[in-house]
Amino acid sequence: MDYLDLDLSVTTEDMALRQTAHKFAAEVMRPVAKKLDGMSAEEAIAKDSPLWDFLKAAFKQGYHCFYLPAEVGGTGLSPLQSHIVTEELGWGSFGLTVLLSVISMPFALIAARAMLTGDMTLAETFVRPFCECKDGSMRGCWAITEVEHGSDLIACEEQIFCKPDVRWNVKARQEGAEWVINGQKAAWVSGGTIANYALLFAEMDASKGIAGGGVFFCPLDIAGVTKGKPLEKMGQRDLNQGEIFFDNARIPADYLLFGADMLMFLHSATLSNANAVMGNIATGLARASFEEALNFAKVRIQGGKPIVEHNSVRQRLAEMFAKVETCRALSRTVRAYNTAPPNGIPFLEYSVASKITCTRLALEVADEAIQLFGGNGVCREYLPEKLFRDARASLIEDGNNEILAMAAGKTIAESYPRSG
Ligand SMILES: Cc1cc2nc3c(=O)[nH]c(=O)nc-3n(C[C@H](O)[C@H](O)[C@H](O)COP(=O)(O)OP(=O)(O)OC[C@H]3O[C@@H](n4cnc5c(N)ncnc54)[C@H](O)[C@@H]3O)c2cc1C
Repeated sequence: MDYLDLDLSVTTEDMALRQTAHKFAAEVMRPVAKKLDGMSAEEAIAKDSPLWDFLKAAFKQGYHCFYLPAEVGGTGLSPLQSHIVTEELGWGSFGLTVLLSVISMPFALIAARAMLTGDMTLAETFVRPFCECKDGSMRGCWAITEVEHGSDLIACEEQIFCKPDVRWNVKARQEGAEWVINGQKAAWVSGGTIANYALLFAEMDASKGIAGGGVFFCPLDIAGVTKGKPLEKMGQRDLNQGEIFFDNARIPADYLLFGADMLMFLHSATLSNANAVMGNIATGLARASFEEALNFAKVRIQGGKPIVEHNSVRQRLAEMFAKVETCRALSRTVRAYNTAPPNGIPFLEYSVASKITCTRLALEVADEAIQLFGGNGVCREYLPEKLFRDARASLIEDGNNEILAMAAGKTIAESYPRSG
């Protein structure tokens, strides 16, 4: 289904990208997402799973690297184009879009460091081959959450972040020209059991608590790294998740991307980017739910006519439509600003505003779609049931919405009004 884009700056080239992404989302993502949703977490990553063909197809299209700058081999899409493509992929499947975005995270951070320091060594070794990879074989993940630390790590604006007695479970200690890594990351790491590279957050300086952490690029096919079982969950079942264990795993000293001195800035910037993307993906899910409801309302006959001809149904569709447009307007503006902020510093509170608003609205639209489907709405046969479960998980993903709001609230209290 096509839609009118109110943004008059959208070009015909942008529209062509959207059409290609939409075709991919409709013809490749949705069928695979439906199959994965119905499988066990183990089956979903087995050798014969459709996941692998999906990844190959997505990598061929460059959907694994469109967040990366052209200087290191990325597709170099503009922030607007990234938003447009991400919305379409989110329309196809929330979970698979999250997977594609975490797959690029270790490489994106190597690229960010290369841009800051001018040292392209790691970028040439890893990022360019990643961007050129067409078979889905280079897969990253974002390994931050720990068994004992979920919200602690998200609330980077809160005091808990700097308490010396609240320490990372995963610890890195330097021995000569290597870092030695020990500890465990939680089962929540998206793509964790199928990734071969991690963007790893780990303790470097115990005296500073969580704030004493560093950010490492860590290959996962090295001695001392093992994985847990893939996680069974209610929503986003097409998104693989699982634990990663480190037992004296050794990586070269220069795989430390950002030290403790940079952690607060880096963490806030990473979260700003991740939350902006989440708002963007949620926009796609909200639109998918709205379109399902509209299409169904045109064919479901009750009271002697299609239910879309009942005024109260039209009113509900109009409210759903308004929520979708709100999601797109907010998530696009935030994504455009925070992807390339004029002074180089993304504003976390705007990304949080987008994430918490769009995920909440996406859940509301998915909920209303189920209601409009009547009894069919709670059947697995129809898409809204999956959209609802996927939307529910997004209120916790990348930080519980209320914890994100706490962090953003502190910034707002201290720095509103912002100037660019
Ligand atoms: C679908 C999905 C994908 C994810 N992907 C990743 C990933 O790729 N990488 C990764 O590392 N992690 C990932 N996560 C983990 C996610 O970031 C955490 O689940 C999230 O930060 C919440 O942490 P928690 O589950 O430990 O909950 P907790 O932090 O234990 O929170 C439990 C409850 O306590 C409340 N609470 C906690 N602290 C406070 C406080 N200080 N004040 C008031 N209330 C509080 C919370 O609001 C919440 O209601 C993912 C999670 C999901 C669901």
